[in-house]
Amino acid sequence: MRPPQSVRISTPFAKLKNSMTKRTAFITGASRGIGRACALALAAAGHRVILAARAVDKLEEVAAQVRAAGGEAHVVSLDLASADSIKAAFSSASKDFGRIDILVNNAGVTKDGLAVRMKLDDFESVLKTNLTGAFLCCQQVLAPMMKERWGRIINISSVVGETGNAGQANYVSSKAGLIGLTKSLAQEMASRNITVNAVAPGFIETDMTSVLSQDVKDNMLNRIPLKRLGTADDVAAAVVFLASEQSGYITGTVIDVNGGMYM
Ligand code: NAP
Repeated sequence: MRPPQSVRISTPFAKLKNSMTKRTAFITGASRGIGRACALALAAAGHRVILAARAVDKLEEVAAQVRAAGGEAHVVSLDLASADSIKAAFSSASKDFGRIDILVNNAGVTKDGLAVRMKLDDFESVLKTNLTGAFLCCQQVLAPMMKERWGRIINISSVVGETGNAGQANYVSSKAGLIGLTKSLAQEMASRNITVNAVAPGFIETDMTSVLSQDVKDNMLNRIPLKRLGTADDVAAAVVFLASEQSGYITGTVIDVNGGMYM
């Protein structure tokens, strides 16, 4: 039975929860790390989540976790390096679940090396997955969002997309490109009430960073004023906010989640 109105909105938090609209969120790279944390947090905020990546078995594990917590999750196979796979993933998602309201372009790869020796394929393949892939995902959701006059696109960039980083010319180009894409789309889409923002994580503890040596990690830590590495949940909190109704007057911006390592 519905509690009386005065009880339902008795605290500011309850007020916020009562005003929340259930949306459908599509998260790329949701099988682990930051994408997984975003999926769990968006589901906890009351949204239906569509989890996408190449490893479907890993996505099923995340989906099971969402469902165990009372949320709704669906899994689609997606390879961002293939335009056909992107089309197929979105057409299957929208056939089954209708319009996508929130897109989190999170998936990303690295192939580090000094520019002087970097193979063309190592440069192009990182751009293809991280930047072209994200662009094609945006294209898949824009028309239905425009029709609905509501949408949230959140691109996961990186602190190095703002600062540059030796040994990552390909990755940094893709992450800086995502910021340019964010600002351009934000301008194109603002009149349709679609916001487009980027989140730039600093050094976050995930599989991507677990391969770095202790020396590199210690060196990073020295450059972080908050004196700790970030967690995937730190990034997810910013994503949930940018996906919410409450962020509706924020577009074309980059939220840094980096412990102060770049201000
Ligand atoms: P991660 O642990 O390596 O996870 C990457 C995710 O992307 C996985 O779910 C992976 O799943 C998916 N993925 C990779 N290639 C894909 C492809 N071709 N098609 C579809 N999905 C693909 O990475 P993370 O550390 O969570 O990072 C997430 C995002 O945050 C990335 O864009 C990264 O650049 C950015 N970021 C991370 C940090 C950090 O410190 N960790 C800092 C700044 C920015 P499958 O392999 O199953 O496809």
